Amino acid sequence: MRATLMHKARDVRLETVADAEIILPTDAVIRITRACICGSDLWPYNDGPNRAGQAMGHEAIGIVEAVGSAVERLRPGQLVIMPFAYSDGQCLFCEEGLQTACIHGGFFGNGGEAGGAQAEALRVPLADGTLYPLDTAPDEALMPGLLSLSDVMGTGHHAAVCARVTPGASVAVVGDGAVGLCGVIAAKRLGAEQIIVMGRHAGRTELARELGATDVVAERGAEAVEKIRSLTGGFGVKAVLECVGTEQAIATSLAIVRSGGAIGRVGVPHYEALPETRLAFYRNLTISGGPAPVRAYIEELLPDVLSGRIEPGRVFDRTLALDDVAEGYRLMNERQSLKVLVRP
Ligand SMILES: [Zn+2]
Repeated sequence: MRATLMHKARDVRLETVADAEIILPTDAVIRITRACICGSDLWPYNDGPNRAGQAMGHEAIGIVEAVGSAVERLRPGQLVIMPFAYSDGQCLFCEEGLQTACIHGGFFGNGGEAGGAQAEALRVPLADGTLYPLDTAPDEALMPGLLSLSDVMGTGHHAAVCARVTPGASVAVVGDGAVGLCGVIAAKRLGAEQIIVMGRHAGRTELARELGATDVVAERGAEAVEKIRSLTGGFGVKAVLECVGTEQAIATSLAIVRSGGAIGRVGVPHYEALPETRLAFYRNLTISGGPAPVRAYIEELLPDVLSGRIEPGRVFDRTLALDDVAEGYRLMNERQSLKVLVRP
């Protein structure tokens, strides 16, 4: 079969590898019907993979092809959503709905034990706990929305949940990438009244408005902080969805959140320490977040995707064949594409 491997920075290729197969009785093998490239895939694309030949991709929907002897909840032929992390569904963290902390779990496409989803097929460990099966295959037009539930929509929702977005809240979303835009969708879905998206890419902020953003702040640094204060009666927003992960993004988040407010972090942090610890203390700030337990959120978000109430599939602005996956990385890295959907 063919799969996407990252050899070194900027060197990502579609190659022929050994077929995905059942190794453990709890495994399933899925045929990938849609996968995509994540903003977080651009970190190894620029800085180099965790190991040479890293199998890439952690977002997919697919069809179950085979199941191991201990798999009980899945059967061949089912359409499944594959969360970016695998989990047993049984440990104390899974029971609490924090599958990304599963004591037997791990992540796809990061150079670890599990393979990558930018491929024709994939072995899924702990298949019963990991995969979310759908009873019937919905309309083709809904497939991008279903795919978004494997990561970006669940991650945007996690940012909103961690930032404690409630009806009527004022919200700022730091970042206009796919997760930021899904954060806008999530904030609106949870009833936020004011949703300020921070970004300077016109096409993306325009889409953010269509998805529910009420204001756009294109400024950066001190000017951005000033603008957000002026939009919020001088105090800043109640909730910040930090969807970038850079030092500047967290610094901005701390500067625009009001006293008693909360920051939900879902951008993988590329900084060593949280700044402004005393300020955060004296202003009673909550700083929360981490890898989203998207497996837990599928249950809640799926009905709204199926009904069309939310349209997270709109974050995909380009569809490429798996053969062109390297081109997809280039397009996203050069900001010519927001998010690339890949069809094996
Ligand atoms: Zn678990």
